[in-house]
Amino acid sequence: MLCTPETIGKQLLRAERLWMFLDYDGTLAEFAPTPDHIHPDPKIITLLTDLAHHPRIRIAVISGRRLRHVRSLVPVPGVWLAGTYGVELQTPDGQQISRLEYDTIRPTLETVKPRWELLIAHRQGFFLEDKGWSLALHARFAGDEEADTVLAQARRTAADGAQTDAFRILGGHKFLEIGPALAHKGHTVEYLLDRFRWPGAVALYLGDDDKDEEAFAVIQAHGGIAVLVAKEARETAADCRLDSPQAACQWLTTLLRHYGPPEMTEETGQRHRE
Ligand SMILES: [Mg+2]
Repeated sequence: MLCTPETIGKQLLRAERLWMFLDYDGTLAEFAPTPDHIHPDPKIITLLTDLAHHPRIRIAVISGRRLRHVRSLVPVPGVWLAGTYGVELQTPDGQQISRLEYDTIRPTLETVKPRWELLIAHRQGFFLEDKGWSLALHARFAGDEEADTVLAQARRTAADGAQTDAFRILGGHKFLEIGPALAHKGHTVEYLLDRFRWPGAVALYLGDDDKDEEAFAVIQAHGGIAVLVAKEARETAADCRLDSPQAACQWLTTLLRHYGPPEMTEETGQRHRE
């Protein structure tokens, strides 16, 4: 079912407060050609700034990218930022939280990394991204068959190199990643909702892929609403769908408008954002 502001608007508008969890790539922005393409989008920055200034709205941007990339893409004060699926967090006032010891993660990745490098050496269309807390193997520019074969082999290599449940291997379309088990958007949403409670808030999540699906169930278990951003309808736990990042941004803009202007403060008659 496609989302309209009216579809779920009643539930959201009745909420005293709204906590939005937003994926970035494929949800707010079209996919970049490679993860190292970091071009902040002024329209998205304006939208997130307007949302973050509303006193009844709290924003968390939650991405598989490393935190410093998320920070470059979303240089917006007052927003929660979650990098590496939430292993590394930045609070709205700019403090960083690492939910794991980096040194407990790296040795395993250092074991897997040269094996993956060897696997893709002399092959076209593959590249390895060292994200610090995780390693990702991209096959976006490789042929389908070769991508399947190489990623299957890489998965076996990773499973072999990380024989503890402290790690997880994430698959995706022409994509494989090994990282901490805690690199999980569902766990991250749970962590934020539990540790940083905001009484009366309804949770809303917008995301486009299987890593976001892991958060949808958590959001719904907390009485919130999950929105899938995808061109085509597909099997999903989400409550409704928006068909593109542009549609998602437009929908959020409309939602903000429905939510009303920030209240005037009693003392000054000024809006909170001023
Ligand atoms: Mg995404």
